[in-house]
Amino acid sequence: MEIEMLEEQEKRAGIVATCRSMNATGLNQGTSGNISVRHGQGVLITPSSIPYEAMTPEDIVFLEMDGTPHGERKPSSEWRFHLDILRARPDLNAVVHAHAPYCTTLAIHHMEIPPVHYMVMAAGGENIRCAPYATFGTQALSDHIITAMEGRKACLMAHHGMVAAEVSLEKAMWLAVEVEALARQYHGALLLGDPPVLNEAQLAEALEQFTKGYGQAKG
Ligand code: 13P
Ligand code: ZN
Repeated sequence: MEIEMLEEQEKRAGIVATCRSMNATGLNQGTSGNISVRHGQGVLITPSSIPYEAMTPEDIVFLEMDGTPHGERKPSSEWRFHLDILRARPDLNAVVHAHAPYCTTLAIHHMEIPPVHYMVMAAGGENIRCAPYATFGTQALSDHIITAMEGRKACLMAHHGMVAAEVSLEKAMWLAVEVEALARQYHGALLLGDPPVLNEAQLAEALEQFTKGYGQAKG
């Protein structure tokens, strides 16, 4: 029990620190964006609209998997898609949503990110799709995101931003940063003309390298 409480404290503090770094690095701004991490039989999620500098670990809300909130604060207005992603994808444990500048620029044009760089495969497939527009905080938006993330760990959101999900909060933030870098690179490449894309064999090999286990962890 004590270990579980310690783990929860660590996760709450980790969410607050990650929110602050997401703004400090320019991945997000203001009170936009939100973060969740799977915990026990539910999810820990950022509260709605509290500036990250003022947010404390106690402000993080625990949501049961059916959406029942526990805590003083109102959960993020986007709790539906956080829960839906973590319910639909037992392989993923953390979700980062940001209004990342270049992702949002492409998403305003409803553009997906095609395989202009091998790192596209880090999100699980040959493109990073753009979910159609729906009002923030709605079930319709969540449904669009779930569809756009089929076989993927990230997507853009039309006229809104982006979402990245991974096995841990560290990895979800890593993926969010990489997706924003891809969006910036694709935006730059578009300025020079119609960019060429990687072919199927090249993408399959890149995916195999990621599947083999890119990074320090074995597997
Ligand atoms: P919250 O402050 O309610 O999490 O909303 C921010 C946001 O990005 C909505 O899409
Ligand atoms: Zn948002």
